[in-house]
Amino acid sequence: MSNVLVLVDHTGGTVRKTTAELLTIARRLGEPVAVYIGEGVQDALPALGQYGATKVIALTDPELTQYLVAPKAEALQQVAAKLEPAAILISSSAEGKEIAARLAVKLDSGLITDAVDVQEGPVTTQSVFAGNYTVQAKVTHGTPIITVKPNAATPEAAETSPEVEEFDVTISDAAKTARITDSKPREATGRPELTEAAIIVSGGRGTGGDFGPVEAFADSLGAAVGASRAAVDSGWYPHAYQVGQTGKTVSPQLYVAAGISGAIQHRAGMQTSKTIVAINKDEEAPIFELVDFGVVGDLHKVLPTATEEVTKR
Ligand code: FAD
Repeated sequence: MSNVLVLVDHTGGTVRKTTAELLTIARRLGEPVAVYIGEGVQDALPALGQYGATKVIALTDPELTQYLVAPKAEALQQVAAKLEPAAILISSSAEGKEIAARLAVKLDSGLITDAVDVQEGPVTTQSVFAGNYTVQAKVTHGTPIITVKPNAATPEAAETSPEVEEFDVTISDAAKTARITDSKPREATGRPELTEAAIIVSGGRGTGGDFGPVEAFADSLGAAVGASRAAVDSGWYPHAYQVGQTGKTVSPQLYVAAGISGAIQHRAGMQTSKTIVAINKDEEAPIFELVDFGVVGDLHKVLPTATEEVTKR
């Protein structure tokens, strides 16, 4: 069976859920080989083995993480030249997409970004034009390089005991042009990562700038907090939490939209959520066309009552 490379998305050895999703998808296409860049590969091994990685290629040269993405693309090019994979899967993060684009140029290969599903072939599914069209595509030239959106697959365990193979790479001077001088993790909120959360509670202009009730309800459910662009543009919540066409795409089990009208650009980022609940004081709000459950009411009254009910249980 052919190898399928999966670039591991991790923070210091803690593997992100998106990698479990990529490994699950890779098993449909061939033998998943995890490519791990940076320190902490031993910490990552159990998670990579749990989702079926047959081998882990470890790239530990510090230069790979001291510069912005160019060295990583060069390194993947060298791994691909040796392993001749049937496909390369990368998470659809900003960094992942830049690595994928550079790699596609280096390998003279076709690239598909933001796949929401990948099946044998590999044939990908993408949701385009703000979610109005679904497109199926296949790379016809070179090694298919595919970036996959978070939540495109449900991680399915398949225990393996992958061995680690150290891989030496040569980084060109041309790739060492943008050095990282400082790197601080975002302040921890204690809430799940937005794109990985099973439950999201989002607030919009209807919050009037007070995200307290949204955060309290989110915390009662162990949920992540999201925001509409109107809330972000008003400076009420950071852009990192924006859901929509120009924000994050999410697909949780439960999405609660509070004080959000349901503009097409917001829907583009959340309409594949499994269950959608809206709280809006306007019963004509377009978000109600999309919901499984709707509450017509003032979020400042509905959310605290809901929080109290959940906390009681
Ligand atoms: P509004 O549309 O103003 O809706 C507020 C809602 O809150 C109303 O329905 C109102 O009835 C309700 N409300 C008010 N008070 C209360 C209350 N007390 N209790 C309950 N309900 C209340 N938007 C995004 O969200 N994400 C994107 O990524 C995005 N990208 C965009 C990209 C482009 C190119 C463009 C042009 C626009 C984009 N937008 C995006 C903006 C989008 O068009 C909308 O303007 C935005 O989503 C509106 O946000 P909102 O629903 O919070 O505000």
